[in-house]
Amino acid sequence: MFNLILFGPPGSGKGTQSVKIAEKYQLKHVSTGDILRAEVKNETELGIKARDIMERGELVPDELLIQILHSVMENNKDVKGFIFDGFPRTIVQAGALDKLMTKLNVGISNVISLDVADEEVIARLLKRAEIESRKDDNKETINNRLSVYKNQTSPLLDYYTKQDKLIKIVGVGSIDDIFNSICEKLDK
Ligand code: AMP
Repeated sequence: MFNLILFGPPGSGKGTQSVKIAEKYQLKHVSTGDILRAEVKNETELGIKARDIMERGELVPDELLIQILHSVMENNKDVKGFIFDGFPRTIVQAGALDKLMTKLNVGISNVISLDVADEEVIARLLKRAEIESRKDDNKETINNRLSVYKNQTSPLLDYYTKQDKLIKIVGVGSIDDIFNSICEKLDK
């Protein structure tokens, strides 16, 4: 199996690049943000628990994400691999993912981190707010999401550097240029 993780602050282009990578390498795209937004929309038990937390830009509890991870793996037994977009976001989630991968006798091949400066992601998210009307794309929540990324998620970069899996990519430029630099590294 070829399993990838895509990291980056909110607004770094993770979603866009994940879709392209999934298509090229024929991987199942798993965006936990998209999964959670669908749960909220359908007012499921999980969605009801997650809604207010997401609107504040905080992280949904690890146990709910681990529940999502298990059902994704359970329902996609025949795929060539996964690209995880927005997951894991905490050390606990990364540990759960490792444990599950080990149990299935597979592993994470690479972890891609998209580097984009704060001012740039803030500008992009405010622009997205005008187009998409995502409840968490407003100035206050954006700042909160950025600090959550720095405090809770970026320590994972160290975790994967230690496993020699991290690929850093400059996330500024055209979508295609960024995509090409990702593919170049993955194909090496
Ligand atoms: P995203 O679309 O990846 O920016 O995610 C939107 C929101 O969903 C985040 O701000 C969190 O509230 C929640 N979320 C998505 N993925 C996770 C995760 N792996 N752990 C906790 N919360 C998550």
